[in-house]
Amino acid sequence: MSHDLAVARAATLQPIAAIADKIGIPSSALDPYGKHIAKLDEEFLAGLKDRPDGRLVLVTAINPTPAGEGKTTTTIGLGDGLNRIGKRAVIALREPSLGPVFGTKGGATGGGKAQVLPMEAINLHFTGDFHAITSAHNLLSALIDNHIHWGNSLGFDTRRIVWRRVLDMNDRALRQLVVGLGGAPNGFSREDGFDITVASEVMACFCLADGLADLEARLARIVVGYTRAKKPITAGELNAAGAMTVLLKDAIRPNLVQTIEGSPALIHGGPFANIAHGCNSVIATRAALKLGDYVVTEAGFGADLGAEKFFDIKCRKAGLKPEAVVLVATVRALKMNGGVAKADLARENLDALSKGIVNLGRHVKNLRSFGVPVIVAINHFTTDSEAEHALIARICADDYGVEAVQCRHWADGAAGAEELARKVVALCEGGTAAFKPIYPDVMPLADKIRTIATSIYGAADVAISSKAAADLQAFEAAGYGNLPICMAKTQYSFSADPTLLGAPSGHVVPVREVRLSAGAGFVVAICGDIMTMPGLPRLPAAEAIHINAEGQIEGLF
Ligand code: ADP
Ligand code: MG
Repeated sequence: MSHDLAVARAATLQPIAAIADKIGIPSSALDPYGKHIAKLDEEFLAGLKDRPDGRLVLVTAINPTPAGEGKTTTTIGLGDGLNRIGKRAVIALREPSLGPVFGTKGGATGGGKAQVLPMEAINLHFTGDFHAITSAHNLLSALIDNHIHWGNSLGFDTRRIVWRRVLDMNDRALRQLVVGLGGAPNGFSREDGFDITVASEVMACFCLADGLADLEARLARIVVGYTRAKKPITAGELNAAGAMTVLLKDAIRPNLVQTIEGSPALIHGGPFANIAHGCNSVIATRAALKLGDYVVTEAGFGADLGAEKFFDIKCRKAGLKPEAVVLVATVRALKMNGGVAKADLARENLDALSKGIVNLGRHVKNLRSFGVPVIVAINHFTTDSEAEHALIARICADDYGVEAVQCRHWADGAAGAEELARKVVALCEGGTAAFKPIYPDVMPLADKIRTIATSIYGAADVAISSKAAADLQAFEAAGYGNLPICMAKTQYSFSADPTLLGAPSGHVVPVREVRLSAGAGFVVAICGDIMTMPGLPRLPAAEAIHINAEGQIEGLF
């Protein structure tokens, strides 16, 4: 059995009502899904609107490497650490996708002693939210093809339908297909394909909506295709938004679970961090802010993508005011940024570390440009040496003017994150936060893209293709010029080249395509190859997953 699953299974879970009680949620406001998971009642949440908000803390990381950084693990550990020192902390996370669970990366419920429970349920079907989002998305697909079958009065150009189908599975065979084969009874054949559910614009709408009415309005604004004259056609014109919202009416309530240490966690929504903004729902974050003194939340990928979008899209649009950022790094990942191969990471290497740490330095500088104070959390691995930790602490203090705290929540649970928790509290109470997005609403879309590339990625400039430039102008002419940008770039590098580690600068970021997500409320800038339907690896995690003679799941991690 995997280490994470063994630790999770050894934990004793409290009834979900006991967890809810810790943050003042009465059992009448719980809609239990089994003994340890509950959805929260929307009327109860609406009743909290006049309460003051708690403090919002973002956990982000350096550029991801195959060595692993541990953002989710640290988000959970910090939440546990804050509760341990007597603060009322609520954790807000994304829901896991089955793609990575059965593929390479595994689940998304943390690791070691910093996990949310029940890990098997959360990583698999959970409360069915992804099923609901998949169904709402595919209902719209069915309505499009049905509309064309019955005469196409809206005038779809079937070569210009941009609404693909979705499935929560890594399945490369579905990337590009022809639907409607088999003659007249089966409709008109056309090219289509599947994305993974987390890439669905319904998922992004769901995560940015502030309630059912707003969700329905967003769904109605989704552009699904174009006429021959390139006029956009929306889900609203297909009368789809009402039924889609009905399918999402239960899913939209946040899910409450617990950590191994008994901290409350809201796990809700899970948009991709490339084609979408990569953080849990606004509804869950707002609920957590009403229920806790501290809310610890995670943004996907590295801070160049995840934190930038958390600030410039989610916080801007939802009016959230983050007060501190925790930048997670590991000795291993910093050494990888310094050129060490994965197989050699267990050996002490101070040279590579001092070379690779520039990646962290760039992220610290970037995060500060949003007006939020930063602290570095070094997620401790058993292969780390004390000399390596000492070197990181010294470089952080001397060169970057930031404190680096060693954390052992993976091995020790809440106690291992106590020091980080105290320092995060001090940072918040210091009152230095003055959050602001890095570009204003009113600015040409191309300039917004350029601002992100030059100030966050260290690029000299952007190279926007002529097609993308024309599309940006068309979006502006159609009234979408005030939308924020959702950058879709490799997560591995500050540049668009995944092999350029460290802190490259002076590069040119290619923007080959732009897409309008009118429902979500952003313009996606595609820089390089972006995968919206991942494939499975040669040896998928699924091959090791089974049920043992005791009826327990094995092989999840
Ligand atoms: P992220 O959120 O950054 O993608 P996770 O927190 O999900 O990363 O962690 C990825 C994997 O790394 C998990 O399987 C977790 O158990 C493992 N992991 C995290 N921190 C540690 C650590 N300190 N020691 C060993 N394994 C760890
Ligand atoms: Mg994570």
